[in-house]
Amino acid sequence: MGPSTTPDPARPRFPTAGLDADAIRAELVARRDHDVRWDEGRTFGLVFDGGEEVRAVAEDAARLFLHENALSTAAFPSLAGIQSDLCAWTADLLHGPDGAAGFVTSGGTESILCAVEAARERARTERDVHEPELVLAESAHAAFHKGAHLFGLRTCVVPVLADRTPDLDAMADAVTDRTALVVASAPQYPQGVVDPVADIAALADRVGASCHVDACMGGYVLPFAALEEPDRWGSPPWDLGVDGVTSISADLHKLGYAPKGVSVLLHRSRALRRHQTFDFDGWLGGRYVTPNLQGTRSGLPMAAAWAVVRHLGIDGYRRLVRTTLEAADRIRAGVQAVDGLEVPGDPRHHLLSITSSDPTLDVFAVGDALAARGWHHDRQGPPDGLHLTVSNGNAPVVDAWLADLVDAVDEVRAGGADRVAGGGAYSTLE
Ligand SMILES: *Cc1c(COP(=O)(O)O)cnc(C)c1O
Repeated sequence: MGPSTTPDPARPRFPTAGLDADAIRAELVARRDHDVRWDEGRTFGLVFDGGEEVRAVAEDAARLFLHENALSTAAFPSLAGIQSDLCAWTADLLHGPDGAAGFVTSGGTESILCAVEAARERARTERDVHEPELVLAESAHAAFHKGAHLFGLRTCVVPVLADRTPDLDAMADAVTDRTALVVASAPQYPQGVVDPVADIAALADRVGASCHVDACMGGYVLPFAALEEPDRWGSPPWDLGVDGVTSISADLHKLGYAPKGVSVLLHRSRALRRHQTFDFDGWLGGRYVTPNLQGTRSGLPMAAAWAVVRHLGIDGYRRLVRTTLEAADRIRAGVQAVDGLEVPGDPRHHLLSITSSDPTLDVFAVGDALAARGWHHDRQGPPDGLHLTVSNGNAPVVDAWLADLVDAVDEVRAGGADRVAGGGAYSTLE
């Protein structure tokens, strides 16, 4: 096929004349008109707002590091230091042993992809595994399936029990000599429950496989929750303090309250981390060494994250976590008080889902009725459920949300609202 001679008249043309800064700003501001109002606490997920002061600290650091490139930490030693501070601080928080080492990535997905790849490399070099398998529960994040797909591992998916934790008997059966990686989540995303990490790590250890703990959501919450209210919000050991856990991911751009584009992936040792890095010396452009999947790498996210962590400290995170988890407790109690709605599992932290216990009540229709009232919830399932990741920004509006939830259920029961078809949680691909 040759090039089309008649360009599609509807396709925007590359602009000829430039536009001045004020006009550009006005257009961008206008384009945001129909976005969800995260700054009013109206999204339960997607954006995590640490408040005005935290935002200001992040924005100032972001402006300073907007143009820097972490591809070369030799040219930008500032970024080498920022990255190693973030890794060391996180290792301190997550009981990393001496020698624990990591890298900053662009997010939870990239941290998980790198962990999958590192586990595959380790299984090949240490145990001669050439048809590697990844053992995970059906509750583990979809990014592990993406990693298996990209890096050529076969997935062995095990079911969850009624409490939404993995079926350990099924997991034990699935772990074999071919297993490269076994996954535990702290907590898992769909229902917010923390997996029995020590049991899962022991299964991996038995065959010499890696065990990754996905603490993308919990990494900057659970440690502070346990300090605040050990009985109410504590969990059995779940981090690098557990024998057999070889790597862990924690997302600064979620409840770390940094802007998007930053996560930490830690390995138990430098030797394990070595499986993650790519070092190629056969290119006319020179030796090419990268720690993760990126090449050119913005300095902005890691600098903004560094500033936010340094600004908050343990004291600041404890305050944000208390506000968040008290809000989540009130939300759970409020949902459970609504006839026909349930919170599956026994989540104790900031994630939960809402399902219907009444076959005549369509929870997606409830979600649509909430959306009509300006609240954003991702749909999930099976079973059909609405997702909530509660964070600091939601705390001031919990009562308003609960009142609208009751109204939304009444409207659906009265037959005034139908579910909108389709509506997957994430991007539509055109
Ligand atoms: C968000 C999340 C991920 C993926 O992280 P991204 O930052 O969205 O790429 C992985 N695991 C869990 C439990 C998560 O909540």
